[in-house]
Amino acid sequence: MQMAEETTQLLSRLGVKEASYTGGNLRVTSPLTGEEIAAVKSDSTEDVAATIQQAKAAFAVWRSVPAPRRGELVRLFGEELRAAKDDLGRLVSIEVGKIPSEGAGEVQEMIDICDFAVGLSRQLYGLTIATERPGHRMMEQWHPLGPVGVISAFNFPVAVWSWNTTLALVCGNPVIWKPSEKAPLTALACMAIMARALDRFGDSPEGLLSVINGTGEVGAALVESPDIALISATGSTRMGKIVGPKVAERFGRVILELGGNNAGIVAPSANIDLTLRAVAFGAMGTAGQRCTTLRRLFVHSSVYDKLVPGLKKAYQSVSVGNPLTSGALVGPLIDKQAFDQMQTALGAAKAAGGEITGGERVEDGHANAYYARPALVELPKHEGVVLQETFAPILYVVKYDDLEDAIAMHNEVGAGLSSCIFTLDIQEAELFLSAAGSDCGIANVNIATSGAEIGGAFGGEKETGGGRESGSDAWKGYMRRATNTVNYSKELPLAQGVSFDI
Ligand code: NAD
Repeated sequence: MQMAEETTQLLSRLGVKEASYTGGNLRVTSPLTGEEIAAVKSDSTEDVAATIQQAKAAFAVWRSVPAPRRGELVRLFGEELRAAKDDLGRLVSIEVGKIPSEGAGEVQEMIDICDFAVGLSRQLYGLTIATERPGHRMMEQWHPLGPVGVISAFNFPVAVWSWNTTLALVCGNPVIWKPSEKAPLTALACMAIMARALDRFGDSPEGLLSVINGTGEVGAALVESPDIALISATGSTRMGKIVGPKVAERFGRVILELGGNNAGIVAPSANIDLTLRAVAFGAMGTAGQRCTTLRRLFVHSSVYDKLVPGLKKAYQSVSVGNPLTSGALVGPLIDKQAFDQMQTALGAAKAAGGEITGGERVEDGHANAYYARPALVELPKHEGVVLQETFAPILYVVKYDDLEDAIAMHNEVGAGLSSCIFTLDIQEAELFLSAAGSDCGIANVNIATSGAEIGGAFGGEKETGGGRESGSDAWKGYMRRATNTVNYSKELPLAQGVSFDI
């Protein structure tokens, strides 16, 4: 079956109306074959303004719905997602090229965050705080914040929206979603699935959840609106450098989830077999297109020859191709631009004395589909191109002798998302996790950098933007904190013993 035909069938089964993905100006292609599979209408600035006004009106209602009742909507959404998992997972694979288990895995992550958010809807706790004044009580309340704008990247086309949306909903906020222009179909499908949950829920305000499609310009209209209390933007550091200051200018709130240049350290005591498997998935999985993809590896000179030849073999033999027809483990790059950027980076690495295994284009019979063999680059020095994120499957390998030097190189880059160390030595592991160790938002031991679970807070430091999403207390980013003090005495003692007798 042609890709376009299968896409139409999937969208129809998922409940997406044909008019929303035909005849529009935003052409959608599948990276699996390069074929055009749909044409979605871009929203205009006026459309965005109207959507924002609806969300604003919805907020006035939704903020007063009890949080556990808001959680019920998320519970129903989780049920609908379970029923739609196979179709939505397949659509993720078609639209952005993920292998089937990763397409389905992304939907599973959505289901998991629904469960988490439902529990959270009864746990939006504030503190009660001891006050210095007699006959007083001090406490914190967490209140809904306002409409949330979610801007998402192509490589996690649905999960990132759900991390934000499920939390935002239980916290009492409407959500407007600007998906990647490279992945508008999965967004339309999510809205159709959500529409079924909203129907079953019954009495939600209109405009509680919406999607606006288009390029960065459409996102910019959301970013600039003073009616959007929080912008949660996921994408490149380049995008974050534009979005962050714009929101700051109007004193809005941001959650920025930007680029990563994630690294691992392989210490002398590492379990080499486990390390090899972890590095292979971390660096080659999702064709190197995860924000948490392993991109740099510091290998102790005593184990370099035990690990690197095995890794090279894995790079030479891993299956690359259309994962839906061939079962390949490495699918396509998203587009030609991604392939060109990969080749430019490899050219720079070669010029810097890098020895490259892999990296070449793998022909799949489709001129406009870009498959590349993952590249392992042995670099003599940690400098130049390795310091930047290239969103493609390139793993730079550098030798080290001293752990402190490896940690210094590890922290030398602009990004600060995910990190790991492979070691059986508790002193090394704890140093890496300590304040003097990895400077990233995520630091792992004997696990690669990718594949986070929803229970933990997700995000990174420095040029990764500092935002946190998903688990732990990330929900606080979607609410405003009010400190309340109540005087139940008949006196008026002032704080800090100040007297003001009139
Ligand atoms: P991108 O920056 O090109 O686009 C991301 C989103 O931002 C898209 O929806 C795009 O339309 C929008 N956008 C672009 N310019 C904008 C502007 N001026 N105003 C408002 N919106 C704008 O990123 P991409 O190529 O889709 O995704 C890959 C990048 O995303 C990589 O750098 C990757 O590391 C990063 N990423 C980070 C995380 C994370 O959680 N830290 C997760 C996924 C991807």
